[in-house]
Amino acid sequence: MQLSPLPSEFQAALPVLSALNDHGYEAYFVGGAVRDALLHDRIHDVDIATSAYPAEVKSVFRRTVDTGIQHGTVTVLLDHDQYEVTTFRTESTYQDFRRPDHVTFVRSLKEDLKRRDFTVNALAMDQHGEITDLFAGLSDLQHHILRAVGKPEERFHEDALRMMRAVRFQSQLAFTLDPATEQAIAHHHGLLTKIAVERINMEFVKMMAAKDRRLGLKTFLDTQLFTACPGMDDQGAALATMLADKPQLLLQSGSVWLRVAAALTLPEKAVERFMRAWKTTNTERRQVSQLLPILKKITAHHLTDWDLYTAGADLLTVLVPVAEQMGLTTAALATRYQQLPLHQARDLAISGRTITEWFPQVQGPQIGALLHLATQAVVAGQVPNDAGAIRHFLEQHAEGVSL
Ligand code: ATP
Ligand code: MG
Repeated sequence: MQLSPLPSEFQAALPVLSALNDHGYEAYFVGGAVRDALLHDRIHDVDIATSAYPAEVKSVFRRTVDTGIQHGTVTVLLDHDQYEVTTFRTESTYQDFRRPDHVTFVRSLKEDLKRRDFTVNALAMDQHGEITDLFAGLSDLQHHILRAVGKPEERFHEDALRMMRAVRFQSQLAFTLDPATEQAIAHHHGLLTKIAVERINMEFVKMMAAKDRRLGLKTFLDTQLFTACPGMDDQGAALATMLADKPQLLLQSGSVWLRVAAALTLPEKAVERFMRAWKTTNTERRQVSQLLPILKKITAHHLTDWDLYTAGADLLTVLVPVAEQMGLTTAALATRYQQLPLHQARDLAISGRTITEWFPQVQGPQIGALLHLATQAVVAGQVPNDAGAIRHFLEQHAEGVSL
């Protein structure tokens, strides 16, 4: 089969293939870019595999960077683009169910394709668009089937992360999982505990951020993969509530964690522990701790203008997609936010300096306390955002401060 015409992303990389070919080496486009081009999906990184050893790749091109030289990856710099060129390799001895002990560089494309995870990820394409398809990946692509290359039991035993990759690709591609592949995951799900949490996290977030997240999530639950993930062992029923979510395009990672935290049946303190166990970032943890209470108030119809003000526009963009996914109505939320009398501290008609001018005896933390009181009153609509009105309000309401 031949892909013609070659999409522009591949055209731009043709000089790399030609240069390697001219020096007598084989070179192919491989992996996700070939799969996505055949599916007419958006193409991400164009990766190249070659029979040239890393030192040979470096001798062919003027400008290269040793990106992952021990794994055979060299980045080739062209005038405007850069491409990762990886030597054909096999990953012979696996121990501990994760990453190979060492990789062996080989000259055979077949050996390289054999070690890849799924048939649709094991296609290679030459400079003419001619596809090498050794594992019936084209047929699987056509029928939207995700199937492990070779014997699934062996492949997941070799590298347990592939089980998370399976559910991730299922969500991203909206493919059906081949039954033997699914059974092997159900059988080996426990091996996932051998994999570094950071790597599980990346696949989990990709799965949950994808449009068809419910497909991968269902397999994640059905195969018991979730029981091998941090803090999820007793959360199966809670996680399953997300299957009823409305599908929606591309959540950001912060939103993914907010959605998951909202589904869990955990007290607030335990949510923080859960997030740490997953090695989430500080930003993700902060977003969740600020937004989870707000999400609960939306559900209970107790959301105040002060809640909206303290969340702020940036956090609301994280919150709204999640709330909508959960079937909560947020149409009024944006209008309500827009109509707040203030959106940030500097919108207030007075500042700390105004307070000291008005009330010279007020000092230190009391200045902040008065500003806070004024801000709350203005946001709540109790007082107009006007200096005179605020002064009058403070004179009436500043308890414990002698003005
Ligand atoms: P994406 O669009 O997310 O980049 P991708 O298919 O390119 O999808 P990558 O994680 O970039 O996925 O990996 C590139 C290719 O390397 C895969 O298509 C697959 O052929 C191979 N691969 C990556 N990880 C593994 C693994 N753990 N086991 C086997 N093959 C793998
Ligand atoms: Mg990729």
